[in-house]
Amino acid sequence: MAEPLGTQANPLRVAIIGSGPSGFYAAAHLQAQADLTVEIDMFDRLPTPYGLVRGGVAPDHQKIKSVTKAYDRIASDPNFRFYGHVEFGKDVTHAELAAYYHAIIYAVGAQTDRRMGIPGEDLSGSHPATEFVAWYNAHPDFADHKFDLTQENVAVIGLGNVAMDVIRILARTPDELTETDIADYALDQLKHSSVKNIYVLGRRGPAQSAFTNPEIKELGELDDASVIVAPNEVTLDPVSRQYIDSGVDKVANKNVEILKGFAAQGDTGKPRKIIMRFCVSPVEIIGTDKVEAIKIVKNELVPDEKGDLKAKPTDQFETIPVGLVFRSVGYKGQAVAGVPFDDRSGTIPNNLGRVLTAPKTGEQVIGDYAVGWIKRGPSGIIGTNKPDSVETVNSLLEDFRAGKVLSPATPDRSKLEDLLKSRNIQYVTFADWHFLDTVEQERGEFRSAPRLKFSKVDEMLQAIKERKTATATMQAAAAATPPPLAAD
Ligand code: NAP
Repeated sequence: MAEPLGTQANPLRVAIIGSGPSGFYAAAHLQAQADLTVEIDMFDRLPTPYGLVRGGVAPDHQKIKSVTKAYDRIASDPNFRFYGHVEFGKDVTHAELAAYYHAIIYAVGAQTDRRMGIPGEDLSGSHPATEFVAWYNAHPDFADHKFDLTQENVAVIGLGNVAMDVIRILARTPDELTETDIADYALDQLKHSSVKNIYVLGRRGPAQSAFTNPEIKELGELDDASVIVAPNEVTLDPVSRQYIDSGVDKVANKNVEILKGFAAQGDTGKPRKIIMRFCVSPVEIIGTDKVEAIKIVKNELVPDEKGDLKAKPTDQFETIPVGLVFRSVGYKGQAVAGVPFDDRSGTIPNNLGRVLTAPKTGEQVIGDYAVGWIKRGPSGIIGTNKPDSVETVNSLLEDFRAGKVLSPATPDRSKLEDLLKSRNIQYVTFADWHFLDTVEQERGEFRSAPRLKFSKVDEMLQAIKERKTATATMQAAAAATPPPLAAD
C-alpha cells in the first residue's frame, strides 16, 4: 500500500511558477509545516531568480534587495529545486505539470503596464515606466530598448513609487549611480543624458498621492536636482483638508507635510528640476513622428458615491513641451496559458488564493492556486506578499487535508527533468544561479558596484557553462594530484 501523501516516502509535490517574493514566501510557508514533507519545484522563465527584487527594485535601493538572503535560505532546503530558464506554457504546459505535481501555485506577478487610453500614447518617445525600470535593471527582455535621453524635458505621469524610482534614476548624477547594480549600458547612457526638467503629473492632489514617505522625501536629497512645487499646488481642497486634519492616514499626512516643505523651500538652484504638478490629467500626447508635447487638463476633486475623491476634468487646458514621456500608472497582470483570467482586473480569479473558473461565482480549479500581484493586483510592498502567500498556502493545506489536490500520474522529479532534457531545455539550477551570482559580483568590483548584471540570456547560460567547466577541471586536477609524501 502506498505511503500517505505528505510523508518522506510520498511527499506532497508543489510547483511554484515564478521566483519573486510571493513565490518564495509561499515556499517558506510550505516548508514551515513540521508534520509534512513537501517537495517544491520553482520555475522561472529567466535563468535568474527573485522576480521584481532583481528586475524592479531600483538600483539605488540596495538595502531592499538584501531580502534575497532570506530567499536563498528557503532555496537551500534539500526538498527545494529551482528550474530557471523554463517557461510555463511554452517549455512545459499546465497539463504536463498536472502529471508531476499535486498542486501548482502561480506567482507570476503583473507582467505588463496599464494603458491610459489617450491619443498619442503609442508615439515614439512615450513609454510605460515599467519598461524603463526593466531596462535600467538589465532585464533581458528590455536590454535593447531605446530611450531618447537627449531630450531636456520629460514628463512622468503618475504619483506612485514606480514614478519616484524613475524620477530618481533620471535625476541622479553618474557618481550617485556608479556604485549601484544599474545595467552598464544604462549607466553609460544616463551619464550622457541631457534631461533637465522632469514634470511629474498627478491626476489627484497631494493628499491622494500613492507614493510613500521615504520615497518622496528622497527626491529632496538628490545631489543635482531641486524639487519644485508651487505653493498653490499644495493648497488642499476642503475635503482633502478635512481628511488630512482627521489624522487617520499618517502616510498621507506626512506626504503633504513633505510636499509643503518643498513648496516653502523653493528652487534650490540645482541644475535638474523635478516639477511636481497636481490635479492634472494628460489628455493627449502630441507629436507627428515622436513626442513633442503633452496636453493636460486641470482637474477638480469630487467625492464619488463611496466618499473617495475622484478627478473631474475642468475646461482649463495647458500644453507642456516634452520630448519623452514615462507613463507610470500601474502594472497589469497577463493571462497564464491554461489558467482562468479576469481581463478587467488583470488577475487570476480566486478565493483566498484558490483559483476559480470565473471571478466570485466560479468553481474552484482543483490543484491551482495564485499568490502575489497575479492574485490581488499590483499593490503593496515586498513584505505585503508574506501574509498574502500564507493565506494561499493555508487554503492549499486545507484542500490537501480534505483530499482535494491533483493525483499526478508521475509524482517524480527525475521524470520531470527527463522531460526538460528531452526538449533540450538548458534549465538553470539554484547552484547554477550561485555561479552566475558570483560572476556578476566579481564583474561589479571594478566600479565598486555590488554586481554587474548580465542582460542577455545567452551570456548567462554561457557564463554558467564556463564556470562549471572551470570548476570541474580544477576538481579533476585536484583529484589527480597524488597526496604529498608523509615526512619521515
Ligand atoms: P501605484 O502605486 O498604483 O500608483 C499609480 C499612480 O498612477 C497613482 O498615482 C494613480 O493615481 C496614477 N494613475 C493611474 N491611472 C492613471 C491615469 N489614467 N491617469 C493619470 N494617473 C493615473 O502603482 P506603481 O507606482 O506602479 O506601484 C505599484 C506597487 O509597487 C505599489 O504598491 C508601490 O508602492 C510598489 N512599489 C514600491 C516601491 C518601494 O517600496 N520603494 C517601489 C516601487 C513600487 P490615482 O491614485 O488617482 O489612481
